[in-house]
Amino acid sequence: MERILTGNREWVEKKNQEDPEFFARSAKGQAPKYLFIGCSDSRVPASQISGTGPGEMFVHRNIANMVVHTDINLLSVLQYAVEVLKVKHVMVVGHYGCGGVAAAMSDKQFGLIDNWLTNIKDVIRIHEDEFTSITDDEQRFRRLVELNVIEQVINLSKTSIIQNALKTDEPPQLHGLVYDIREGILKNLDVKEYMVKGFEHIYGMQ
Ligand SMILES: [Zn+2]
Repeated sequence: MERILTGNREWVEKKNQEDPEFFARSAKGQAPKYLFIGCSDSRVPASQISGTGPGEMFVHRNIANMVVHTDINLLSVLQYAVEVLKVKHVMVVGHYGCGGVAAAMSDKQFGLIDNWLTNIKDVIRIHEDEFTSITDDEQRFRRLVELNVIEQVINLSKTSIIQNALKTDEPPQLHGLVYDIREGILKNLDVKEYMVKGFEHIYGMQ
């Protein structure tokens, strides 16, 4: 723990030298433009990989960057970010080499987390034809990371929070990104189909 506290003091000192007004400004409030929904993986720090600083990005992280409709934590973060902070962009950020996605691809039991990983198994079921057609193990793993991000963006669009926000004058844009741990590059998947195609009559709300 000493490392954490020492690290904090050094950071405060450095920050005060670089920008003496930084903490006074931070204390006044936040107006982030982005909501980042990412994986809890320690190698995917939201601010660092996006070059943003404190105050710029509202962050929610869980195992495998999931948007689960019964997750009151995610829904609360989403509502606050969209309706109160009025963020301009909501992004789901997955990453290649995701342990959660790898676990979902296996048939092993890992405990309580299996119930969470079932949501990723659902992604495999939805895209089973494409998933099983990829013969290379690494490529299939990488594609599932991408498909999972796309499905989580679609899940975002199914929420009443996003559907109501899309009816406003300045709706937030939804994005799906994948971070490549080996290169450090964020790739935009250009997710355009927000709603499940052909099922708008079921998921769409007036
Ligand atoms: Zn992960």
